[in-house]
Amino acid sequence: MYPISLDGLFSIVGVVVFGVLLVYTALSWRLRDTAIIVLSLYLLLGLAWNIGTMAQVIGLMPDALPDEFFTWLTNISRGLMVVVFGALTPVFLSKNKEATWYTGVALALFSLGLVVRFQLNNIDSLIIGAIPAIQSTAVIIGILEVVTWTLAAVIAPWTILSSLKQRRQTQFRNRIRYWSGGVIILAAANLIILLQNPNLLWIGMGLNILSALLITHITLHSHLPDLQIITSHIIRTVAVTLALCVIIFVALYGAYLANDGLMTRQVALAAILAIAILLALILPRFANWLEESLTKLLLEAGFDVTRTLKAYSQTVSTEWDFDKLGRQALSFVVQEMKIDRGVLFINEGDGAGHVTLNPTAVINMPEINTGYFFANDPWIMYLRYAQTSVTQYDIDVLPEYKKMDDNSKDWLANQDVEIFFPIILRQRELLGVLALGPKPSNRPYLESDIDRLHVLASQIALDIDKTKMFNQLGSVNQKLGKMSKKFENLDQGKADFLSIASHELRTPLTHIHGYASMLMEATEAELQDPAYLQHVFTGIAKGSNRLKDIVDLIFDVSKADIGEMDLNLGPVSLASIVREAAENQGQPIQQRQHRLVISGLEQLPIIQGDSQRLVQSLDHLINNAVKYTPDGGTITITGRSTTENQRPCVELIITDTGIGIDPDDHTRIFEKFYRVGNIENHSSGSVKFKGAGPGLGLPLVAGIAQAHGGKVWVESPKYDEKTCPGSQFHLVLPVEPVIEMLKEAHRFAEPSTVETRHWRSEDMQAVRDRIAEQQKKSA
Ligand code: ADP
Repeated sequence: MYPISLDGLFSIVGVVVFGVLLVYTALSWRLRDTAIIVLSLYLLLGLAWNIGTMAQVIGLMPDALPDEFFTWLTNISRGLMVVVFGALTPVFLSKNKEATWYTGVALALFSLGLVVRFQLNNIDSLIIGAIPAIQSTAVIIGILEVVTWTLAAVIAPWTILSSLKQRRQTQFRNRIRYWSGGVIILAAANLIILLQNPNLLWIGMGLNILSALLITHITLHSHLPDLQIITSHIIRTVAVTLALCVIIFVALYGAYLANDGLMTRQVALAAILAIAILLALILPRFANWLEESLTKLLLEAGFDVTRTLKAYSQTVSTEWDFDKLGRQALSFVVQEMKIDRGVLFINEGDGAGHVTLNPTAVINMPEINTGYFFANDPWIMYLRYAQTSVTQYDIDVLPEYKKMDDNSKDWLANQDVEIFFPIILRQRELLGVLALGPKPSNRPYLESDIDRLHVLASQIALDIDKTKMFNQLGSVNQKLGKMSKKFENLDQGKADFLSIASHELRTPLTHIHGYASMLMEATEAELQDPAYLQHVFTGIAKGSNRLKDIVDLIFDVSKADIGEMDLNLGPVSLASIVREAAENQGQPIQQRQHRLVISGLEQLPIIQGDSQRLVQSLDHLINNAVKYTPDGGTITITGRSTTENQRPCVELIITDTGIGIDPDDHTRIFEKFYRVGNIENHSSGSVKFKGAGPGLGLPLVAGIAQAHGGKVWVESPKYDEKTCPGSQFHLVLPVEPVIEMLKEAHRFAEPSTVETRHWRSEDMQAVRDRIAEQQKKSA
């Protein structure tokens, strides 16, 4: 048989292994994964080097190729293998800066080696001349290769240490442990190969094959069996085997000794039988006990569902307060898992599937922000549908999380936690997420831990649901309370309306009735007296005007109330509107000796509005200022340009020096029929101090403002008739009302059922005609 050397054998195995690994790696090529590309490059160089070595050692050189080809192939691939070996670790750990920096230096050294090898520019003789200790080109190349190797051997632990500082996840550390093992063997292999000691070559080859197998496996598989668990299993198996061995050996030795001529054959047999039965009874139990104790010691015990649930229900009390429940639940989980930090997030999503994770309870964690996720976020999808844990490591390495939004990824990474566990209710609703830190001494989360978390998470889900429902019930209760208050107010409103209406309508009616009676009971002489008639008709006209005003006001307010106030839009100058209203209120102002100051209106822009309605609202505002200010007060009207929801607006400010309004009444005075204080105490009238009307003026002002797309509000420190702190009414109107918006608002309003007949000029004329006719007749 043709004798084959160890080197030859290893080179054949090397060619096969590197070839297979290269194909296997090429199958998982993803262009963006540089680690796989660099690994493939290393495998290719390894293959080339093994082919070259095989050709030289076994002498299987094809005649077509010159001998130097294979020498050249081994030399070049050996040098390049070291270069690529150094790049593997930084690239594997995504340390791009270190990888680029290293590759640059290593390639420069390699190129220098090439220059020396091919004796370009006589550089080799130059170096040898400069440093006499160096005797040949080979020595220079050797030095360069060893320097590159040293660099490669340093860059690996350096990048590993800095990565471990940044990322502390157990699974990451586990993979790094494997990688470190692989890289140490790889470094040894490359060094031995570089040294080119013929006696050691086969060791270098063997190590190179072994490390190639290891690093290929680690690069292509992100989830490797946990080394701590494997080690514990080995320790446990060895310890149990040893203990059983000792026991069986002692028993057998005892039997052997007993048989040493001291006993008869039958007695010895009986003794052996007794020992066998004893061992059969004891050993299985002992082995079980020993195994369990060692598991507990090395990995910690499994868990007991009943005990966990009992402890949970005893510790996490039936809390109705969300925050307290969260804190208690989280501290229970943290204690149960023997970890030192965690967060409980509650999903406050919008029901459309989007998730808003709000930190409800936090233990030993830095500041945590709220997280926002889309419904189709891969992480959220996994939690919702797989309904089990995801580790931060999974998110970092698994391809399905690659397409995750950068913000979401950053948010998760910033939590610096080990594992995320969903809190799911009834198999569908994601109520929250438990984010937990690493286990003590960086042990991995075992299957029993995940089981325990499942039990706890479903219990927390039930509690959250219960608390949510309880709180909802509370808010429904509150709403009901508010509604009953509203109904009470409505009832009060109705009573007020009847009382106000009877008061307000009766006063002018009494007037009319009185004058009408005077007319009916008038003597012939009185009927002939024009002054008497003038007096009676003026009285009737005054009363009916007042009656008409009140009925008109009720009609306008109900129109505004149901959104049916039609506006006659046109360009409006606020200065002229205010002037007109001020003229209307001229007499009352004069009567009460108030001072009216108008300023800053001329520069206001022209707005689109219903001038008549706007005069009406200013009438009411000025009239109120007149009424609720003691004689001799000052009423100021100013204006300014402003914006509301980024739309240009104008604001009119009517300030008085009157009795003021209690802040509690600031919104209620805009409600229909609402009047401050006891309505019985008001004096009715449109001029008198505190001469309250029907409580419809401000609701109408608000209705007109709203119909224009604007608003009105009041500012006043307090109600005080003595100090008179004054009130300030603000009326904001858009420069251009958005007609579509107004129409839209009206479209949803109920059609009006209110019908009032207005006195038109024809009606007035008809009355006048009739009186004239009567006068003619009597004359
Ligand atoms: P009224 O017809 O009673 O004046 P309003 O709707 O115009 O009804 O006003 C409602 C209530 O708001 C008034 O009864 C009054 O108590 C209070 N009020 C309105 N304007 C002023 C003001 N300028 N100063 C003080 N109180 C005011």
